[in-house]
Amino acid sequence: MKIIHSINKLQKELRRGRKKGLPVGFVPTMGFLHEGHLSLIRRARKENKVIVVSIFVNPAQFGPNEDYKKYPRDLRKDAALCKKEGVDYIFYPAVKAMYPEGYSTYVKVEGLTENLCGKYRPAHFRGVTTVVSKLFNIVRPDTAYFGQKDAQQAIVIRRMAEDLNMGIRIKVMPTAREKDGLAMSSRNAYLSPDGRSAAPTVYRALQLAGDLIKSGSRDAAKIKSGMRKMLSAAADKIDYISIVNPEDLKDVKKIKGKVLVAVAAWIGGMRLIDNIEVKA
Ligand code: AMP
Repeated sequence: MKIIHSINKLQKELRRGRKKGLPVGFVPTMGFLHEGHLSLIRRARKENKVIVVSIFVNPAQFGPNEDYKKYPRDLRKDAALCKKEGVDYIFYPAVKAMYPEGYSTYVKVEGLTENLCGKYRPAHFRGVTTVVSKLFNIVRPDTAYFGQKDAQQAIVIRRMAEDLNMGIRIKVMPTAREKDGLAMSSRNAYLSPDGRSAAPTVYRALQLAGDLIKSGSRDAAKIKSGMRKMLSAAADKIDYISIVNPEDLKDVKKIKGKVLVAVAAWIGGMRLIDNIEVKA
């Protein structure tokens, strides 16, 4: 496994494999890897010959008052984990390499970025789609792997790849969870002890919605109000509890077919997001 900082050097390395027609699998991350990331890497390993994992805490996707500076980082541990999983290249660029002086180009997906997290983190998805486009252009993978944990992100990226004819297969893997249901996240490391014990309530509220829908409830407002009751007891603040159509991410009133139930809430000083897909 090689850890590569330079864009040119990575491209040069990858050219070799591409010439031989070896399929390239790509897992973009912000590092501080956990089982969720590893499940993506394992799938990529199974389906490709060359595996690239990028580790880049992307300043463009953090708001001015968000946790860019204190986002957890541990390249040494990440490298050990990647090596164990048979990763070929870790791409670890510097911010200056990705956004040099004079950088001025941004990619924005409209519509899909307006609801859910887009409402509360106005520049977030523009930052995500910009960096992922750059990474896709650098790595030029056959398949890129994303997590259902960030459902809106995966939907936005799939749209972008299709709209811009990127010719990259986007695969979305299920959310990896702790035993108590909490969705794994690098940020969980920063939960206070009380926050950590309260955090599984997010998934419990989602499960409540799932159970209600499965047992015939169709009124989204009623379901959300039940979830809110449960979550308010654990969360310091709720950004949103939403039931949306997974195609266009618009709120649904009456549940029909497949819906995405999604939550963002502040617990123990951290903003947690989670979601489930439910079929009525
Ligand atoms: P991040 O490092 O948080 O930007 O995540 C990198 C990739 O891993 C994204 O595609 C995430 O959706 C995915 N991911 C993060 N947490 C999980 C999880 N608990 N289960 C599955 N995938 C995840």
